[in-house]
Formats: sequence, C-alpha cells, structure tokens
Amino acid sequence: MSGCQNAVEYVYQYIDDELTVTRRARIRWHLRRCGNCIDAFTFETQLKARVSQAGRVAPSQEFLDTLRRLIEEEKARPEA
Ligand SMILES: [Zn+2]
Repeated sequence: MSGCQNAVEYVYQYIDDELTVTRRARIRWHLRRCGNCIDAFTFETQLKARVSQAGRVAPSQEFLDTLRRLIEEEKARPEA
C-alpha cells in the first residue's frame, strides 16, 4: 500500500489536478489515516490557495503611484 513517501510524491500533483482518479482516491485514503501527510497536504493546499488569491488581487495604490510617476517621467523626457 502506498506509504508516506508515495503520498508526499503525489501531493503536489494532487494539488495541481494532474493525477488519475485512482491515485487521487489512494492519496485521500492515506491522508485520512496519516497525520504527517495531512499536515503537509493542508499546508501546501493553503499555500497554493493564497498564491492564486494573491494573483487576483488588484495592484496596490503604491504600485499604481509608481507606475504613474514613471509614465510622467517618460512623457517629460525630451525626444531622442
Ligand atoms: Zn503519510
């Protein structure tokens, strides 16, 4: 039966939805019984969720101000 090592190897693929149904079921089964792996799995899942959320977040005001300033500087620059 797949032990921790197999489960850990597949966790990343599991999170990325790259596994077959059989493998996903096997990992889920392992995670339900194994505290070590469920901790790692939870951590990775939350990390991934946070990263994908961060990607959707609108740019900060600071970033927009910097961008605007750069554009103004570029406009003010004499033609080469
Ligand atoms: Zn395990």
